[in-house]
Formats: sequence, structure tokens, C-alpha cells
Amino acid sequence: MKTMRVVQVPRPKAPFEIVERPVPEPGPGSVRIKVQACGVCHSDSITKEGLFPNIQYPRVPGHEVVGTIDAVGAGVTRWQPGQAVGVGWHGGYCGQCDPCRRGDFFACQTGQVTGISFDGGYAEYLVVPTSALARFPTDTAAVETAPLMCAGITTFNALRNSSARPGEVVAILGIGGLGHLAVQFAAKMGFQTVAIARGQDKEPLARQLGASIYIDSQAQDPAAELLKLGGAKVIVATVTNGAAMSAVQGGLAVNGTLLLIGAAESMEVSPLRLLTGRQSVKGWYSGTSIDTQDTLAFSARMGVRSMNEIYPLERAAEAYDRMISGKARFRVVLTMGS
Ligand SMILES: [Zn+2]
Ligand SMILES: [Zn+2]
Repeated sequence: MKTMRVVQVPRPKAPFEIVERPVPEPGPGSVRIKVQACGVCHSDSITKEGLFPNIQYPRVPGHEVVGTIDAVGAGVTRWQPGQAVGVGWHGGYCGQCDPCRRGDFFACQTGQVTGISFDGGYAEYLVVPTSALARFPTDTAAVETAPLMCAGITTFNALRNSSARPGEVVAILGIGGLGHLAVQFAAKMGFQTVAIARGQDKEPLARQLGASIYIDSQAQDPAAELLKLGGAKVIVATVTNGAAMSAVQGGLAVNGTLLLIGAAESMEVSPLRLLTGRQSVKGWYSGTSIDTQDTLAFSARMGVRSMNEIYPLERAAEAYDRMISGKARFRVVLTMGS
């Protein structure tokens, strides 16, 4: 029997284990992917720490998967072995439930999450439903693109579905794993892009990524600085600090939106400001597989790149700790080296 290496979480809060398992066979409506690389995302802590109910262990985490289809299950007609594909957080939808019938596939009542509902990409192979697949613009996947499957689609899709129009002021709060991609997407989409981060040392990078204005939130009041520009039509908050999110609300333009994609526990909002400026605070879910496909195509065409630290699969534990430390510049990626 052919076997593969996977990195699994044996039970909640336990250390990662590297084990040999039989290579899985794709069932009806599924494909098997030979994994080339998988990004390490903060949300992998859901599997590692057991933060969702009903996760079946042992479980292989990883939802920033890139690779090549190498086998297809019964009934799969639109996908073939050899195609370069990616798989993100969204692990497929049923097409039958009420949210699916309304076209809100992201909210599918039986929707699956890669690396949580089924085994993910910290592995040499994985099996996924076809509704989770994004096609690469060419027949080659690239290791560096793995973070586009989660951090990339989340920022790209939030921006392109926002109310901002080309030329308007869009601010990105935080220049980390999400933010360094959000700044690039915002600039390439034609917004007047403002980057907000802590410290003067991040300014050169912010400008290199495409920001035309940089606000150092330690030295300046970001809300006041945004108001000098007429206010931001959209502020994308990529940080996970509720207080930092609250501190920028006052910088919104009339009809502006504070768009939250960083998973903070809570934040303070001024309803008075919201109602007098007819503003909103909104969350954004990353998107489905076709949104990932659009993210890949846009990024390839416009030169949007994730900056990564790369580790081999057998050093997954170290790679995960590096991601958790918040010190990685900017995303961490595992390669299968085969
Ligand atoms: Zn993620
Ligand atoms: Zn559904």
C-alpha cells in the first residue's frame, strides 16, 4: 500500500505528530491532491487547541493548500489529474440548504472547513470535495502562493465587495500577514491607499507594497490623520486588537465602513458617530473557491505576492510556533519537498 507523511494533531492541545498513513482514495464528487505547499494560518489553532466543538481527532490541519490533482472520484467531470489547484478555508458546500439556495454558499449549514471538518494540507496528499477547488491560471502552482488561499482571498474579497470606488481613500490597519496583502490589493485596485501600523520603521515597506500614505499609530492619531484626507471610505482592520480597531473608527468618511477581518474578541464602537455619519461596522468572511480562483488570477496578473518564511513539512511544529509568535515576515508556509 502506498503511504504518505502527514502532520496530525492527536488530540486537542497535544503536540503535533508526524506519521505515515495510507494515501487516501477520493470518493464520489471528490479529488485527491498531491500537495506542493500549505500555509500555516492563525486559524490552524482551532484544530491545534480544539476551539471548535465536534472536531474528530486525530486531525491534520492546514487550509492554505496548493498542489496538483492526481486522482478524481466517481462523477467528477470538470476536473482532471494534472490540474494545478488550491484549497482554502472554505471546504465545500451542499447546494441544497436555504443559505445555499440563496447563493450564500459561504454560510452553508453543512459547510465544511478544510483542516477542521476533514484532514487538511499539512500532508503529502489530501482529498477534498470539488466545490472546494480553485483553479490556478496556469498549470503550475507555486509554493509562494499558498497564503493567497486564506490571507489573500480574505483581503481581496473584502476589498472588492466593499463600497469603496477607485480613487477613494482606503485605509489598511495593520501590516502583518493579512495587511501586507491588503495594502497590495488596495493599491492595485486603484484606491488611494493608506497604511496604518505601529512605528516609523514600517513605513518603507508600506510604501514598497503600494501605500501612498503611511500613518504611524504610535506617533499620530490615526483617526485625525484620516480625517485630514477627508476620511476613509473603507478601513480594513486586519489586526486582532479591539482597542486598535476602536481607535480608527473616528477616521471614517460619511457613508464609510469599518470592515473587520481580524478576529478580535470585542471592540468599542460609538453609535453616535455611526449614525451621524451614516457609517457602518461590518465583518467579512473570506469567500468560496471561485473567489479564491479570482484572487489567484488577479494576483498573477497584477503582481501581488505574499512574503513568506518557508519550512519543510517535518518542521511543522517549529513553523507553527513561529506563526503563533507573530514575528514571521509575514506568512509561514510548509513545503512537502517531493
Ligand atoms: Zn486561514
Ligand atoms: Zn448548503
